[in-house]
Amino acid sequence: MSISCLKCNKPAITFIRYNGTHLCPYHFSAYVEKRVKKELKKQGKTEDNATLGIAISGGKDSMVALHLMDKIFSKRPTIDLHAITIDEGIKGYRDHSIPACIHNCKQLDIPLHIVSFSEKLGITMDDIAQKHDELGECSYCGVFRRFCLNSTAKDLNISKLVFGHNLDDMAQSVLMNFINGDIEKLARLGPHQKIQPGLIPRLMPLRSIPEKEIMLYALVNSIEFHNAECPYAIRASRRYYRDIIDELETHNPGTRHSILNSYETMKPLLDTAFPPAKLNACRSCGEPTSQMQCKTCLLRERIV
Ligand code: SF4
Repeated sequence: MSISCLKCNKPAITFIRYNGTHLCPYHFSAYVEKRVKKELKKQGKTEDNATLGIAISGGKDSMVALHLMDKIFSKRPTIDLHAITIDEGIKGYRDHSIPACIHNCKQLDIPLHIVSFSEKLGITMDDIAQKHDELGECSYCGVFRRFCLNSTAKDLNISKLVFGHNLDDMAQSVLMNFINGDIEKLARLGPHQKIQPGLIPRLMPLRSIPEKEIMLYALVNSIEFHNAECPYAIRASRRYYRDIIDELETHNPGTRHSILNSYETMKPLLDTAFPPAKLNACRSCGEPTSQMQCKTCLLRERIV
């Protein structure tokens, strides 16, 4: 005997363990969409005439973010949507996920801008991996990706960048910064409420949705995505935090939500303790930085 949806008695496809509800495909999608709209409101009003840039990789999170932004904003003709894909130059991985970006943007009629590390920085992640630098690939990739996104968003006059970070990503980032004692970095985690000159603010509309629910939303709504792990992820320290949080969630459903809620409660105190730093133009590239030279230029000099 199948279990019925709490809302309509049709067969349920999922059980939301942390709140004890069974939902059918329709009510599950409505449940996700309602929370995404609520999250967007919480992160600040989206003004008329805004241009939103959705950072997409081809993976499930960013593809769902793209479809949800289209669903929410396509009825507002004064809001423009663009998608940006960063090609880090990872053979066998990024070249396989870009077709999913192209397919989804075509389907939704959203202009897609593909920007590569090789054209912006003169190096690829595969080149960096060959150097076996002790910092590890992800330290370079994260900084270079933020640089490419921010400078492309400025070129396109984008008012806010939308990221597909989910609840699992957020809980991992909070725990990771906390355990590393990097409280200033914790204070700087998006979404950003304060606008800093030269830095495009970030929206994270999926940040209260668990990763498994995003996967299910993509499957239920037939959203095409590329499902593979980056070959360099094996060295990413984030994996340990993911395993710890998964274990905690199994024994205590709702742990990820509690971590995010605790972070939200602490955020005003963190903002007071670590107000945004005064930014200058980097002496090498002109991008905003709190130092003389930005992290992208420093890392580039170290590796090129
Ligand atoms: Fe970049 Fe690391 Fe993510 Fe691979 S796992 S895409 S190297 S940040």
